[in-house]
Amino acid sequence: MSKNQNIPYRIYLPEDMIPKQWYNLRADMKELPAPMLNPGTMKPIKLEELTPIFCEELAKQELDTTTQYIDIPQGIIDFYKMFRPAPLIRAYCLEEELGTPAKIYYKFEGNNTSGSHKLNTAIAQAYYAKEQGIERLTTETGAGQWGTALSMACSYYKLPLIVYMVKTSFEQKPYRKSVIETFGADIIPSPSDTTKAGRAILEKFPGTGGSLGCAISEAVEVALSTPGTRYVLGSVLDHVLLHQSIIGLESKAAMEMYDEYPDIVIGCAGGGSNLGGLIAPFMKDKIQGKADTQFIAVEPASCPSLTRGKYAYDFGDTGKITPLMKMYTLGCEFLPAAEHSGGLRYHGMSSALSKLYDDGYLQARAVEQTKVFKSAVDFARIEGLLPAPESSHAIHVAIEEALKCKESGEEKTILFGLTGTGYFDMTAYDSFHRGDMSDYIPTEEELQQGFDQLPQID
Ligand SMILES: *Cc1c(COP(=O)(O)O)cnc(C)c1O
Repeated sequence: MSKNQNIPYRIYLPEDMIPKQWYNLRADMKELPAPMLNPGTMKPIKLEELTPIFCEELAKQELDTTTQYIDIPQGIIDFYKMFRPAPLIRAYCLEEELGTPAKIYYKFEGNNTSGSHKLNTAIAQAYYAKEQGIERLTTETGAGQWGTALSMACSYYKLPLIVYMVKTSFEQKPYRKSVIETFGADIIPSPSDTTKAGRAILEKFPGTGGSLGCAISEAVEVALSTPGTRYVLGSVLDHVLLHQSIIGLESKAAMEMYDEYPDIVIGCAGGGSNLGGLIAPFMKDKIQGKADTQFIAVEPASCPSLTRGKYAYDFGDTGKITPLMKMYTLGCEFLPAAEHSGGLRYHGMSSALSKLYDDGYLQARAVEQTKVFKSAVDFARIEGLLPAPESSHAIHVAIEEALKCKESGEEKTILFGLTGTGYFDMTAYDSFHRGDMSDYIPTEEELQQGFDQLPQID
């Protein structure tokens, strides 16, 4: 086995190698993702239709399909310096334990107080809001990682924030709430009676634990109906993937220092932002025919948007007030089972990733949560790092691929995204240890109900 030419366990880029620009993958895609539509006119959405909801600069980035590299303002780079560059870690211990000839690398994004990659875009979004003179932001949070990241970013820029948190997570993760409040944001469990959308959902599904789609409806409604207020989203949208490209850019630079290049890139996919960011610069090479990397999105079997969803125009939220996006979706009224990877419980998928998947550039796999937690626990014991349940989806498939290499004897280089820490997910780990964790896989009939609600578009 040709293990190592002096590659350290942890590759830290020097601070002055924090990327100065984000990379916009759409500028290099052979065919663009279908445009966002205004559900009122069914025409592609215009900048002036997005700016009542989103900050001006973010709306521009959302619609920019041509600029390859976009400068990161110095104010954002200054904040990035507090927790970036993030380390790229060579999983030597895991390789040895598996007995695989594969080389396994992971980019660890959990090394900041919010505990996940979401801070990369949170700080950018808060920065642009502040620059524009916005007085208040609203958002939703599922598992709580996004709410935490955004509350950190907003406290840095002294911007008031209201967070609608999916009720099941609100109850399961009381300490997330405490952290968010520590950073000064207001937090409301969703669905709530503070909005029309929330009241409608409560009436239709009394006792529901909520969903991301439903919390989005509430947060957007408040932004639209309160002066000086804008809504921000932590995943799915193209400007979010743009900010997350910093993950891929740093990973590529770190690998290049050691003449490494991945044969396989793996990431978990909820709305697609960490995966989209991680793969961006490598996908560019693939699109341009310079590399033949395999890309794998990993999703929960309980919420299988790519592997079992339809590629169709759909709303981003349950209340049907967002623009329409063409994406792999389970239908915006699909309420995923209350499983433990809250950050992956979203009915749709980034339209750019959906397009890449539809065009065959990206593969997808769905995994049951008990298998994911088995891999999470193995990984924690072997690598000494407690992963978030979401991230553990990527770990699981990285292990599968490394074991395939063991069988075939191929020395592939595997890179996966380790998006966050699991410290706030101990209820889930407890449930796994007690053996009472179950796997919910929706039936065809249940999925069909979601598809039946898709908007009819010719
Ligand atoms: C939110 C989250 C995800 C999923 O979101 P994407 O937009 O698909 O990246 C994955 N891992 C962690 C730790 C998260 O917080």
